Amino acid sequence: MGEEESVLANIKRAAVIGAGVMGAAIAGHLANVGIPTLLLDIVPREETEEEKQKGLTLQDPPVRNRLAEAGKKRLLKEKPSPVYHKDVLELITPGNLEDDLEKLSEVDWIIEAVVENLAIKQQLFENIEKVWKTGTIVSSNTSGISIHAMVEGRSEAFRRHFLGTHFFNPPRYMKLLEIIPTEDTDPAIVDQMKAFAESVLGKGVVMAKDTPNFIANRIGVYGTLVTLQAMFEQNLGPDEVDALTGPVMGRPKSATFRTLDLVGLDTFVHVAENVRANVDDPEEKAAFEVPDVLKEMVSRNWLGEKSGQGFFKKVKTDKGKEILALDLATMEYRPRKKVKAASLEMAKRAKTLPEKLRTLVYADDPAGKFAWQIMKKVLLYAAARIPEIADDIVSVDQAMKWGFNWELGPFETWDAIGVERSVARMREEGETIPPLVEELLASGYTSFYAREKGEAPRVFAIDGKFVGVEEHPKTIDLARLKEQNKVIRSNKGASLIDIGDDVALLEFHSPKNAIGADIIAMINAAVKEVSANYRGLVIGNQGSHFCVGANLMLILMEAQDHNWPELDLMVRQFQKAMGSLRYLDKPVVAAPFGMTLGGGVEVCLPCDRIQAAAETYMGLVEVGVGLIPGGGGNKEMLLRWTEGVDPKDRVTLQPLVNHVFEVIGTAKVTTSAREARDYRFLRPEDGITINTDHLLYDAKQTVLAMDRAGYRPPQPKKIPVVGETGYNVLRLGAYSMLQSGYITEHDYKIASKLAYVLAGGNVPEGTLVTEEYLLDLEREAFLSLCGEPKSQQRMQYMLTKNKPLRN
Ligand code: NAD
Repeated sequence: MGEEESVLANIKRAAVIGAGVMGAAIAGHLANVGIPTLLLDIVPREETEEEKQKGLTLQDPPVRNRLAEAGKKRLLKEKPSPVYHKDVLELITPGNLEDDLEKLSEVDWIIEAVVENLAIKQQLFENIEKVWKTGTIVSSNTSGISIHAMVEGRSEAFRRHFLGTHFFNPPRYMKLLEIIPTEDTDPAIVDQMKAFAESVLGKGVVMAKDTPNFIANRIGVYGTLVTLQAMFEQNLGPDEVDALTGPVMGRPKSATFRTLDLVGLDTFVHVAENVRANVDDPEEKAAFEVPDVLKEMVSRNWLGEKSGQGFFKKVKTDKGKEILALDLATMEYRPRKKVKAASLEMAKRAKTLPEKLRTLVYADDPAGKFAWQIMKKVLLYAAARIPEIADDIVSVDQAMKWGFNWELGPFETWDAIGVERSVARMREEGETIPPLVEELLASGYTSFYAREKGEAPRVFAIDGKFVGVEEHPKTIDLARLKEQNKVIRSNKGASLIDIGDDVALLEFHSPKNAIGADIIAMINAAVKEVSANYRGLVIGNQGSHFCVGANLMLILMEAQDHNWPELDLMVRQFQKAMGSLRYLDKPVVAAPFGMTLGGGVEVCLPCDRIQAAAETYMGLVEVGVGLIPGGGGNKEMLLRWTEGVDPKDRVTLQPLVNHVFEVIGTAKVTTSAREARDYRFLRPEDGITINTDHLLYDAKQTVLAMDRAGYRPPQPKKIPVVGETGYNVLRLGAYSMLQSGYITEHDYKIASKLAYVLAGGNVPEGTLVTEEYLLDLEREAFLSLCGEPKSQQRMQYMLTKNKPLRN
């Protein structure tokens, strides 16, 4: 076992104390990655009415464990799901802090996630120490309470094992984990926790200091407060501010106020007040003063999403659902307004985020002035907090990207709008420029980051020098490899890149990574190139999603023009390319992540292995656009589900085919890679990578391992089909759904075509057919559906509205 593996293997079992919003979800995520976890909460003071009716008393375990049990149960109901799969819940054992305290001596990591109250946390750690054994790491998930204060009075050994581990909500999806050591924490434990969090939990770790609210919440809450202030000054509404502070500024769609509604106004006020109470500078204290309007909203229980209304409120009208915005002057909800500003329109049209930012903040209209005002304040504040909250600017940038979903951190933003230009304007406006920025400019530099073509980025450090940005050993940066002239071949839609150790990578980079002629041509080129010169091939990319499917626009255009020979050729070529991946004489590993739909799945299925990111959403969704899979998806699914089944064993075979019919017929999309195993998009031998940043590295290692083991390509297989009898069974199922109104006439038509393909057409039950035979059936059905007006309507609808049409 290597050094890293042995460090990671040290945390085998965990305990989470507090089964509230965060505690339960952290336990869920530990279970996601296979760690058996105890989930403990307090013993309730009295029975509920329901418990009394059941004759239960405070002595009975169901009552005593009620809070932790409830926390665990909630994991199944919440959306989006905190867990990869319902089965992972088996790893969570609920209990209570009185009966199960001793069990804490059996775990390797104890995480505290109880109410945000110093005295309660101190008391809890005192109790934990009584059963604690040396070696067990203990950490707190506090949002802002002093880490060292929590363990005052604890032994030195205990304090050596103690640190802050601050997850962001929801822990499965938010990448950031702030690790906060105290002066007493053993550096080896900090390193161990960092490695564990990155590799096992899939987090992006930022090292923070033990200062109020650490990094992300300190800056993020400040940013929200200055936005609120600017909103009052310029008499704007939350809807108008959100239009300016969302994607156009590189922030999430939920922008400022919808985010606040999601977080909960009470939580926000609590965090802001914690900073105010714990900082010394009067100006900073004043900045963290929560405006009265917000306090008023909290007192009215207008907390946002969880109480049904906040800055926004969803109401039902004659036209359906409508979202209203709060008018802060009257405290009444009104229809949302559209912001009309030339700067905003221009910024939206700009191609890159730096261009958008420059267009907006340097514009002279009110929208531009608003954006400048809030951005200026956040940049100045972030720079002035170094080295108080962090020793380097990368930590601040990463914290804001991973904890608040900003596309660029404050210092990256500063580089984007130009440090010299913006600082000159700040000076004109009488602002004090923080020492870090003065130092940067005095040294003759004009940006916080410097990147030479093909080199790793370097960053301005507080000692005035540029240093390399720390990178995980599993980093593969495709953009950088391209700059290093590692591109073997390239066209508009795809590139073949040498990723070292004689492994090539096929990258899709068409719009949304949709598959068109370019990608097919590059697959063919990759197959030839890899066969001749490489040990194997990875198919992957570092865009926003793996692949959304085939280029629908192209299919629709050809179909509308009745260009059948052209369409037939396209589908044939797609099928052929997939076949060449399957039978290539070198190992091929697909590395899907995020949306992996339709043709994206069809590219993965013929590969020797799939190494999927944990967050992969896979589905053969073609019926949603009036089609069925056309790139071999039906055949591959049949291969996976019928493998090893005796063709004469109809009792086994038919239910398996029914299942494939259901998965494709209902356009099922999995909510995780773990769930993709249930549908056999992934097989048991396929791997899952928790940290998406490590995905290409892991996929490459799989290629190398298969090569070292003496790779041999698969042999063509015959596939047992259910034939005509089975076709009738499948169609009958669809017909009864039509009869009961679950599906439309057109759904039924598509289902019948799908049934015909999956049944293997017009042959006797139990026939063994070839792959080519099934591909021909698939292609014919696909093409005939392309000609259906209602299918064309579905395609059109998806292309224009980005959602499926049920017609
Ligand atoms: P919560 O109110 O949902 O849950 C707190 C849990 O603590 C409850 O289950 C409660 O029964 C339990 N508890 C109460 N008193 C206790 C005691 N004396 N001993 C043991 N358990 C006790 O709170 P939460 O939102 O899950 O927050 C938990 C911690 O995580 C807090 O420190 C909070 O600051 C931090 N945090 C919260 C968020 C968030 O978004 N909610 C994000 C990051 C960190």
